[in-house]
Amino acid sequence: MTLLRRLIRLLCGTDPVLRRMLKYWAATCVLYVACIGMLLVQVELGLSNPAAANGLIAFGGCGAFAFYLLIRANARLKLEPDQLAVAQAVFSLVCAFWAYAISGPLRAAMLIMAVVIIVFCMFALRPRQTLVLSAVAIAGMGATMWWLQAHDPVRFPPATEALTFGYLAGALLSTALLSGEMSKLRSRLKRQKRELTEALETIRLLATVDELTSLVNRRHMNEVLKAEERRQAAGADTCIALLDIDFFKQVNDQHGHAVGDSVLRCFAAAARASLREGDVLARWGGEEFLLLLPDAAPGDARAVLERMAERVHAMLVPGLDGRRISFSAGLATRRAGEPFADAISRADKALYQAKESGRARIVLA
Ligand code: GH3
Ligand code: MG
Ligand code: MG
Repeated sequence: MTLLRRLIRLLCGTDPVLRRMLKYWAATCVLYVACIGMLLVQVELGLSNPAAANGLIAFGGCGAFAFYLLIRANARLKLEPDQLAVAQAVFSLVCAFWAYAISGPLRAAMLIMAVVIIVFCMFALRPRQTLVLSAVAIAGMGATMWWLQAHDPVRFPPATEALTFGYLAGALLSTALLSGEMSKLRSRLKRQKRELTEALETIRLLATVDELTSLVNRRHMNEVLKAEERRQAAGADTCIALLDIDFFKQVNDQHGHAVGDSVLRCFAAAARASLREGDVLARWGGEEFLLLLPDAAPGDARAVLERMAERVHAMLVPGLDGRRISFSAGLATRRAGEPFADAISRADKALYQAKESGRARIVLA
C-alpha cells in the first residue's frame, strides 16, 4: 500500500458512510480556506481589523477540527447525519455573523454566505429543519445588525442595517420555502427511479423467461447458444438435446388444457431438478424443450436425461388421475466449430427416430 493511501486510510477510516461524511466536511473546509484567504486580503487592504479577523480565523479553524473529531467519534456517539449537519450549519452561521460584524464596507457580501449555508442544508435536511435553520439565521443576523447599529450608528447606520436585514430575511425565507419544493422533487425522482428499476427487471424477465414454466425462453436460449459458440469455439464436449413430451395432445383432449399447463409446469420443475450446474433447459416450443449440456460427453448427457426421465415418470400431476408422463429425446454432440443450429437439426432427427421407435426413449444422433 502506498504511503498516500495509508495516510488517507488513517485520516478517513474505511467505513463508506464515514468517508462520505468526511468528504462533505472537506468540501466545507475548502470553502473556509477560501473565505480565510479573502479575509486576509481584507485585512491587508485595511478593510478589517486584524485582531478581530485573527479571532475569527482561529474560531473557524478550531471549529472545523472539532467537527472532524466529532465525525470520527460518531461511530460511538451515533448522532444522526442530519443532527451533525444542523450543528455544522449553526457553527457556520455564527462564523457568518462574526464575519459580517468585522467586514466594514464589505459586510453585505457576508450575507451571501448565510444563503449558501441554507442551500447546503437543503440537501442534507428535511424542509422543516431547513425552515427552522433559516429562522435561526434571520434571528441571529438580525440580532447582530441590531447590536452593531446600537453600538456604532456611524459605521452601521440603522436605516441601512434595517433595509439590509429586510433583503436578507426575504432571501433566506424564499430559499427555505424552495427547499420544500426541492424535497418533493427529490422524492418524486427517487420514486421514479425505483419504478424504473422494477420495470426494467420485469422487462428483463419477460424477455428471457417463459411465463408458464419459468424456464429460459427460446429467444434467450438463442443468445445463450451464441455465447456458448463463442466460448467453446473448438466445439469440444458440448451436447444438445431436444425433448418432446409424449402424447401431450391426448393429455389436453382428455383432461383439459389447464391440466396440460400443469403438466408443462411439473415437467419443467422435475427436469430442472435433474440438471447439473451449468446445464440450461429452455422451452423451445409448445411441449418441446431444448437442453444445453456444456462440457458433457454423450455418456454424461445420457445420464442426465435418464435421471430426468425417472423424475418425470415419478411425478404425479393433479388432475391427471395417476397417469404417468414420459418424453422422448434426441441427443447430439456439437462438432468442432459447428453452429448449434446444425447440432439441433441432428438432435431433431434423433428425436423423430425416438418417436418412431415407440417413444419414452433417448436416441443419440
Ligand atoms: P407426440 O407423442 O408425437 O409428441 O404427440 P403429442 O400429442 O405430444 O404432439 P402433438 O404435436 O400432436 O401435440 C402437441 C400439443 O401440445 C398440441 C398443442 O395444443 C399442445 N400445446 C402446445 N402448447 C401448449 C401449452 O402451452 N399448453 C397446453 N395445455 N397445451 C399446449
Ligand atoms: Mg409431443
Ligand atoms: Mg411436439
